[in-house]
Amino acid sequence: MSPVLHRTSEACESTHYDVIIIGSGAGGGTLAWRLAPSGKRILLIERGTWIPREKQNWDSQSVILDGRYNCGEHWLDKDGGRFEPGTHYAVGGNTKFYGAALIRMREADFGEVRHVDGVSPAWPIAYGDLESYYTRAEHLYHVHGLRGADPTEPPASAPYLHPPISSEPRIHEIREGMERLGHRPFPMPVGIQLDEANPRASACIRCNTCDGFPCLVRAKADAQVICVEPALEHENVRLLDRARVVRLETSVSGREVTGVIVERDGHEETYRAGIVVSSCGAINSAALMLRSASDRHPAGLANRSGMVGRNYMSHVNSVFLAVSRHRHDTRFHKTIGLNDFYHAGEGREFPLGHISLMGSFDANTLRAGAPRLAPTMTLEKMAEHAVPFWMTTEDLPDPNNRVTVDGRGSVTLSYTANNEKAHARLGVELKRILSAIEFEEHLIPLQVYIPGRIPLAGVAHQNGTMRFGTDPYRSVLNLNCRAHDLDNLYVVDGSFFPSSSAVNPALTIMANALRVGDHLLDRLG
Ligand SMILES: Cc1cc2nc3c(=O)[nH]c(=O)nc-3n(C[C@H](O)[C@H](O)[C@H](O)COP(=O)(O)OP(=O)(O)OC[C@H]3O[C@@H](n4cnc5c(N)ncnc54)[C@H](O)[C@@H]3O)c2cc1C
Ligand code: SF4
Repeated sequence: MSPVLHRTSEACESTHYDVIIIGSGAGGGTLAWRLAPSGKRILLIERGTWIPREKQNWDSQSVILDGRYNCGEHWLDKDGGRFEPGTHYAVGGNTKFYGAALIRMREADFGEVRHVDGVSPAWPIAYGDLESYYTRAEHLYHVHGLRGADPTEPPASAPYLHPPISSEPRIHEIREGMERLGHRPFPMPVGIQLDEANPRASACIRCNTCDGFPCLVRAKADAQVICVEPALEHENVRLLDRARVVRLETSVSGREVTGVIVERDGHEETYRAGIVVSSCGAINSAALMLRSASDRHPAGLANRSGMVGRNYMSHVNSVFLAVSRHRHDTRFHKTIGLNDFYHAGEGREFPLGHISLMGSFDANTLRAGAPRLAPTMTLEKMAEHAVPFWMTTEDLPDPNNRVTVDGRGSVTLSYTANNEKAHARLGVELKRILSAIEFEEHLIPLQVYIPGRIPLAGVAHQNGTMRFGTDPYRSVLNLNCRAHDLDNLYVVDGSFFPSSSAVNPALTIMANALRVGDHLLDRLG
């Protein structure tokens, strides 16, 4: 490895800013968009670069099997096993690859919720404190949906701006079947720029490579297209890409971040700002704090509570393939959700979780998990007959589930899942519903329902490693997501979650970034 040289500040255009935002994904990109019109000098630092627009964007062999856009890093699990995390370093962060299911946490998720394996703690703010930001985030990110269709939906102050996405025939049949059984499936809220009333002008062409793929035609509402590029139209905003922040330095008192140390092109550079915001994703933001340990902060920056890196959550997630006799060629599956098992009640002592559909799916998606799948049916055939469901159960914060770094700064992710009984029960409920609709068993010589747990490397829903709260000895961030221990350090990625709910996290991260953005605009004056 070549040595990292320090580049003097003269070599760089400008090194002093009002605000530095580290990471350009759901949190950082949204915050940059919010702050851009203020005229303040803003530097967005991103370790990845622009995803090229190329045919491979939509090629499942390239994206899923060859890992063309994978991060290429390796982390360790709690037993020292190496794995490649399913995360992406790019302008726009993981939203370049997300399925754009943009759904609010339920109102009850902001309070304590009793689960089979313990209590999910309350958030230090109420749903009402975030509601207007949820609405703004939904409008900003082109969310399609239908108010009132989901019985667990929390109150909203405005309708969706875009109508729900229609279901293709196979999904429509399943939806009708669920309704016949008395269930209440609802149109999944999704952020894509689709205009079904005017297909010729629609940016989105409704393809089968959305969830897990970058959008070749720039129609997915991701943080690059929706926030970073519009922010960069303001001359006060600058993006430094291919620039990895390796540590943060503080003043002698330890109360302010005074230097953001970046590794770029084999050189180290130092950038400074009145306000520094970390939005590297919940794992990398915690790792950055731990790598920034100093005499003033021996256990890592902002870590008086000892909570930095702890309480890592990522949801208990499974893919659940329902294979039937019916052949279908559904392109965009992710059009319905089911929250009938979200809360306790109606015979359930504990909450089970959320069900939706996977956005993209083909033989190569199956091939990635082939050993567990069909020995007697070609994967191509199976993809034509299967409907891929996605099940999410809340995982509870556990201080032993944590991010640590070793002397060289490498990440270890220690995690033991909890709430698995509730997750298994959710699978039983889904199987019961589908069997009752028409997915008769033993149509083909293998299990008709094929569940597959998402492994540790599936860090897509990472959150919780720097929880916010009022007590500096039990939380890392205050209610404005400013580190208790520092006057000018904020965090706006998924780290701040004190509990994870059982819905996809991105909309909550975006809404919170808008909330913190309002606070920062007040502070900047
Ligand atoms: C395949 C896939 C599908 C998903 N589908 C959904 C979905 O349908 N709905 C949903 O709600 N969520 C979904 N998610 C999760 C969603 O993408 C994340 O919750 C969200 O992007 C997290 O936002 P963030 O700001 O915390 O981090 P990210 O969006 O991950 O952004 C972090 C950024 O920081 C950069 N970075 C990291 N370390 C450094 C460093 N040291 N220096 C400089 N830059 C750094 C990274 O390169 C990245 O750009 C999905 C994720 C994946 C991978
Ligand atoms: S479904 Fe639409 S938004 Fe998604 S990748 Fe295809 S064209 Fe892009």
